[in-house]
Amino acid sequence: MYNEKSYALGANRSVIRDLFEYGRQRAAIVGAENVYDYSLGNPSIPAPDYVNQAIRDILSDTDSLAIHGYTTAVGDYETRKAIADDLNRRYNAGAKAEDFFIGSGAAPELVAVFQALAVPGAEILAVAPYFPEYKPFVEGTGAAFRVVPPDVPGFQINLAAVEAMLTPATQAIIINSPNNPSGVVYTAETLSALGEILTRKGEEYGHPIYIVSDEPYRELTYGCTAPFIPGIYPNTIVCYSYSKSLSLPGERIGYVYVPKQCADAAPLYAAIAGAAREKGHVCAPSLWQKVIARCTHLRPDLESYDKNRKALYENLTAYGYEMAKPDGAFYLFIKAPGGDAVAFSEKAKKYDLLVVPGDGFGCPGYFRICYCVSYDLIQRSLPAFKALITEK
Ligand code: PLP
Repeated sequence: MYNEKSYALGANRSVIRDLFEYGRQRAAIVGAENVYDYSLGNPSIPAPDYVNQAIRDILSDTDSLAIHGYTTAVGDYETRKAIADDLNRRYNAGAKAEDFFIGSGAAPELVAVFQALAVPGAEILAVAPYFPEYKPFVEGTGAAFRVVPPDVPGFQINLAAVEAMLTPATQAIIINSPNNPSGVVYTAETLSALGEILTRKGEEYGHPIYIVSDEPYRELTYGCTAPFIPGIYPNTIVCYSYSKSLSLPGERIGYVYVPKQCADAAPLYAAIAGAAREKGHVCAPSLWQKVIARCTHLRPDLESYDKNRKALYENLTAYGYEMAKPDGAFYLFIKAPGGDAVAFSEKAKKYDLLVVPGDGFGCPGYFRICYCVSYDLIQRSLPAFKALITEK
């Protein structure tokens, strides 16, 4: 016997994985250069050289037992202190080492936070379009997952819908900015208005409603910066990852930040540590904790992403495609010509162009393209985009 729910999650491959596999099969037939695969969000800029040098330095100046041994479950003090110092320099955050829990990337951090908030009958909201894994992460804790409909066409937050959906059972709302899949950065005005609603409703219900801010793309912005959300709304729990900002998705390293000003900060932090323990977290990879302690000052070199972003945005809008202005991350979220994104994605395959329908992101009628690809691939794919909108 086995758990049927777990089986279903493991056996049903995601649309993105299916597209990726399809792309590999087509590449074997028509040649990799003729497949325009925009399906996967794997960074295409290498990790900074400084990261690799930090690894070499650690190997030569640190005791081997310390490099490879267990750390405390919450993470090395030096790493947490370095992260706090960096946030204090950048945002005047007033953070201390003890506010941080070092995790193995945003995914398990989110699971621990949702588990910590999953009181009996809890509801957790997510703002569409949203990262599809939120649903199994939340539902795996027993909490109810509820989707706030999108704010079209700008893809900020549908504040009227948030207000209407809040109930005394609402424990948290998950937001992700810069956003996967829309590429939109939530403005300070949007976030202040959200904070005002959550404060008012929290007072009415007699308990805080937390923002869970999922921030793997925080530093991936073009011509703007992402507002520091704990500075706008105190009851914010941040889940951060170095997967995208330092191009380290396979290394599994990030942190949860529970700011001091957050309601019930101390017990909440303990509940997150306890939830991580329940899920089998021992400690985040020790070598990578030591690398991060030396690398918190690094920022990504976004030149190639920005060049890709501009080429796609300018050409696709000129062809007649409609999308929100992509100020961050490495995604465009585009209205499907004809209105059916699943049908559009199928049709695009005829041109060996692989795009992901928005249905799984809670936003049917749109498709996502991920522009962490080569500039050359973008140039070669443009005729396919043009033909697809012309033949609609
Ligand atoms: N959240 C969002 C919005 C993402 O796009 C991703 C990965 O693509 C994750 C979380 C998971 O990130 P990590 O690799 O740090 O687990």
